[in-house]
Amino acid sequence: MIFDLHSHTRFSDGSLLPAALIQRALENRVDVLSITDHDTVDAYRNLPQDLAGLELVCGIEYSTQWKNTGIHVLGLNIDPESDATEAGVRFQTGARMQRALRIGENLEKRGIEGAYAGAASLANGSYIGRPHFAQHVINIGKAKDMNAAFKNYLGDGKAGDVRQHWAELAQVIQWIRDANGIAVLAHPLKYKLTRTKLKKLLVDFIGLGGEGMEVVSGQQTPQHTSGMVQVCVEMNLLASCGSDFHRPGQRWAELGSFAPLPPRVTPVWERF
Ligand code: AMP
Ligand code: MN
Ligand code: MN
Ligand code: MN
Repeated sequence: MIFDLHSHTRFSDGSLLPAALIQRALENRVDVLSITDHDTVDAYRNLPQDLAGLELVCGIEYSTQWKNTGIHVLGLNIDPESDATEAGVRFQTGARMQRALRIGENLEKRGIEGAYAGAASLANGSYIGRPHFAQHVINIGKAKDMNAAFKNYLGDGKAGDVRQHWAELAQVIQWIRDANGIAVLAHPLKYKLTRTKLKKLLVDFIGLGGEGMEVVSGQQTPQHTSGMVQVCVEMNLLASCGSDFHRPGQRWAELGSFAPLPPRVTPVWERF
């Protein structure tokens, strides 16, 4: 069985609508999929009638921070209709709006003209993410591609990396628990923390009610996987896996395309 418990649609910064995402998951032999859009569950209100045998687990990817690091927390198997999810989405949508204005101001100061208006016109409706700003930076010729735009303007510590608006980690975990979900630390390797720091983050995360971590996120080296397995076992966490699919054409993040979880860890789906 292939469980892909991390993916995005056009309701956040992915390119596919739910129906096309589900179609692609089936083509890639995924059995169980979670759509985990950033700070929204709108995809679950826009599903096709017929899932053609695919099992869906409702999820979300909340943005927050720990100390000075921006981190992402997955809520898996949440109730999308719960008051807690509704409160979480409402808060984070407001935060995203406020943040977008601030990112726009910061980028203007760095010489990116029309940053907010440009990102807003690239975005769909209320959802504006850093990739929209990055695309605007590219469109006005200030970066050659997404990587360069993030490296110089939107990535860690840059003008467009604004995180003070997000809900705190404790709040995010509480929203997930109150929605009967399991809080899972997303892609731990992406934060570039030392092993010691990562364990400190996980101690805090567990103290606040977090229960799992992504051991496999897209295509990663076997060394990275065994490192994450070790941390997962040591911290006594549930293990999750997912592609973090956003769009076709990114081979390292293709639906269903990643190493299986090794038998040493307890898969998070045993608790679904
Ligand atoms: P946001 O949710 O608005 O903070 O935007 C974060 C999103 O930007 C991530 O979920 C990725 O999809 C995307 N992203 C982050 N870093 C990069 C990068 N270096 N290149 C391309 N996309 C990135
Ligand atoms: Mn994203
Ligand atoms: Mn993420
Ligand atoms: Mn993601």
